[in-house]
Amino acid sequence: MAQISYSTVGFKDRDIAPALEAISTAGFDHIEVSSQPPHMSTPLEGCELDAFRALLTDCEVRVGTIHAPMRENVLGAPEENWRREKMGVMTQYLHFAAAIGARGMVIHPVPNPIFVPDPERDELPQLITDATKRSLDELVPVAQAAGVRMLLENLPYHCSYPFLHMRELRPLVDAYPEDAVGLVVDTGHAWTSGDDPAAEIHIAGSRLWGTHLQDVDAQDPQDNHWVPGQGGLNWDEIRGALEEVAYSGLWTFEVIVPRHDETPEELAQMTREVADRWGIEG
Ligand SMILES: [Zn+2]
Repeated sequence: MAQISYSTVGFKDRDIAPALEAISTAGFDHIEVSSQPPHMSTPLEGCELDAFRALLTDCEVRVGTIHAPMRENVLGAPEENWRREKMGVMTQYLHFAAAIGARGMVIHPVPNPIFVPDPERDELPQLITDATKRSLDELVPVAQAAGVRMLLENLPYHCSYPFLHMRELRPLVDAYPEDAVGLVVDTGHAWTSGDDPAAEIHIAGSRLWGTHLQDVDAQDPQDNHWVPGQGGLNWDEIRGALEEVAYSGLWTFEVIVPRHDETPEELAQMTREVADRWGIEG
């Protein structure tokens, strides 16, 4: 039975405790934990970790996935010092993910060009390709030991970098063990990039272990992160594609932005109602 999950990034206006309470109140029993402030911008340890676990129990929610830090925190850092530093961050977060019961960790494979010095250099695509593979080679044993699958996400950057679309991500992950490396399709990133989300789901196929379900404008998509149904994506086709690839991961909603001045609580509630209409479980 399909299960739904809601990202805490939908409640980035408040600390993690009230965010969890609000998600639970809206009727979700799984969450994706954001690593953006004010949520898990550092991995918790010791009594803070214990307190977070107690909070999960109190709110009756479980962690499905965690989103690793973003921005410069990528696999394909084109400079070795940068890459090495981020290997430390990813290793810490994989252990943290295991400690809070997450089965998957969403990772942005490559950097947004805004974080790359001289971002249109000719040699960058090859540097990023090599760095991404080197990073996966190093992190696969860490992920396997932790029991957490790394989930590489399609990204909506308009540049010539590799690994932004499933047509490149799928062959990349095919070279790695299934329990360590999978894929997450972000529906809004897909359409913003000019890709059909249903087609991206088909390409990801059996390696798809995560979703970021969010709607965008049909004509001028800007990675809007609206409630499904508020934008122009074809949700019947997206749901059909998930069924056709026998997707068995969580249906994770990454709803962040109000289309019509809704509160975060209203967005979570509306999303829950969408899931109800789709006939998937809380
Ligand atoms: Zn996403």
